[in-house]
Amino acid sequence: MVLKIYSTLSRKKEVFKPIKEGEIKIFVCGPTVYDLSHVGHAKTYTQFDIIVKYLRFKGYNVFYLQNITDIDDKIINRSNLEKVSWKELVKKYREAYISDIKSLGIDSVSKYANATDYIPEIVSQVERLIKKGFAYKISDGLYFDLTKDEEYGKLARRKLSEGEDAVSRIDENSEKKNSGDFCLWKFKKEGEPSWKTSLGEGRPGWHIEDTAITEKEFGSQYDIHGGGLDLIFPHHEAEIAQMESISGKKPLVRYWMHTGFLNIGKEKMGKSKGNFSTIRELIKLYSSEEIRYLFLSANYRKPIDFSPESLENAKSSLERLKNICDSITNDGKTNKNCLNEFEESMDDDFNTPNALQVLWKLVRDENANGKYQTIKKLDEIFGLKLLEKIEIKIPKKVNEFLEKREIARKNKKWEEADKLRDEIKSLGFQVLDGKEGQEIKEV
Ligand code: AMP
Repeated sequence: MVLKIYSTLSRKKEVFKPIKEGEIKIFVCGPTVYDLSHVGHAKTYTQFDIIVKYLRFKGYNVFYLQNITDIDDKIINRSNLEKVSWKELVKKYREAYISDIKSLGIDSVSKYANATDYIPEIVSQVERLIKKGFAYKISDGLYFDLTKDEEYGKLARRKLSEGEDAVSRIDENSEKKNSGDFCLWKFKKEGEPSWKTSLGEGRPGWHIEDTAITEKEFGSQYDIHGGGLDLIFPHHEAEIAQMESISGKKPLVRYWMHTGFLNIGKEKMGKSKGNFSTIRELIKLYSSEEIRYLFLSANYRKPIDFSPESLENAKSSLERLKNICDSITNDGKTNKNCLNEFEESMDDDFNTPNALQVLWKLVRDENANGKYQTIKKLDEIFGLKLLEKIEIKIPKKVNEFLEKREIARKNKKWEEADKLRDEIKSLGFQVLDGKEGQEIKEV
């Protein structure tokens, strides 16, 4: 079966072919750790978790790299506001991020790379850009000259004149040669963290950290780069400009993958919009499986309208699915047809809504065999804990009745035992007298 991936660069689904057979190097932009992660992050990172788990299921040896932006204007501003050092702030929110995404069952990342651990690599990249004539110096830093890159704009399909973007992090300076030129290295400002380097004392611009990290870890070309749609421009465009100018090798990345937004009332959710709810708040209300079910039910490239109704729908669908799975026994076989259909769906640019339908078809088919083992395989990717036995929370009163009934049965007081069974039933539970004693089920 052939895996096809939609690449933003070609705007087409392309047959997937890794650079090195059997191996995949994938990089996904990680968060800027200046605050708690929100449910928009949860969507993007859960969907990439599922994608990477599927690639491993296909037998690829996948190295999944994610950066952590641990130096940035937002971090500096927030640390001033909270009156803590930037290092303390970053430590706190980096740890919070890792623990929050773990709570969502995201455990596929091979390495988290902190931007500030790559200062020598960043400096080396900027030096090479200067040497090759792609970068220039003005009063507050070293900038990339967009006119030197003939192909600038190829990912976002923008012209050079559209190099300025009003919504993202813009490097303002009237001395810039072109309005869209972006900063590679920011010279030290009083009270800001800085590194003493051959470029002058300062700190990295936003875009350069990713290419410095990926060049060190992967080399100048690799297989897949992912992130949310908002990063296509200018961030990913800038990465292409930087790395392809340095190495002269094209393309930097073979497949550019972008997730659709998580929206609240049709508007993108985000910290700067103030309409964000954190993963921490969400996980108190819904289990990781319910949240994953919601993200699985839409194609990763599509937006998700995030509302109490959409979460409740996911919750009740999952409950129905788990209820059916609860009575499935292990016959030791796998269902080849189902696995084939599942792979067909996922090979079609990771079509998770179809893959879920394949799972539903299997569990509903009364004549199908190999259900248990097949569900187990699929769920290693989905992360819905479908085969975990449903734990029944038995109220204290029911337990008391059960104990009394046990004694009544031992003493052969059948009338009393029946009466207690009725009492238990009135509380919503059914008692069955099995070989192992009393068994209890929710009615
Ligand atoms: P940020 O912390 O804003 O740099 O975002 C980190 C990652 O989360 C990026 O890949 C973003 O594209 C993604 N992201 C941020 N907000 C959303 C959202 N509302 N929906 C989906 N992905 C998002």
